[in-house]
Amino acid sequence: MSYREMNTLECKCGCGEMFQTRKTNKEFLNLKHQKDHNNLVQNEKYRSLNEMESRHRKTHDIYKKIMGKKSQMRLSREFLRGAGAELGLISNYTPFEGKQHPTLHDVMIITDKEDNNYLTLKKITNE
Ligand SMILES: [Zn+2]
Repeated sequence: MSYREMNTLECKCGCGEMFQTRKTNKEFLNLKHQKDHNNLVQNEKYRSLNEMESRHRKTHDIYKKIMGKKSQMRLSREFLRGAGAELGLISNYTPFEGKQHPTLHDVMIITDKEDNNYLTLKKITNE
């Protein structure tokens, strides 16, 4: 049997309480402190995910409002930024005419070949 020294550690949950242990893997005062800590971490993850989602939704709503019933539209980046769209927000890429284009949900963002200040928003349909 090997003897391990008693260590005095601070609870990882941030409560500031100290505890003594011989175990090397003990990080929390007790299970309740561990659970509270895990819940907090989980909530923070959820909150930042939600924030991200709402930014996507806001920009997507702007695209849809501008396009109306049109299936595609050529617009300047400046105009879209002025309307409040965050052009860098994308959810995936869509292959189109041999290239991968940034896409926000069902709206493809195609950079203009002639003028980088312009882009074409194109709705993706399954037709
Ligand atoms: Zn604690």
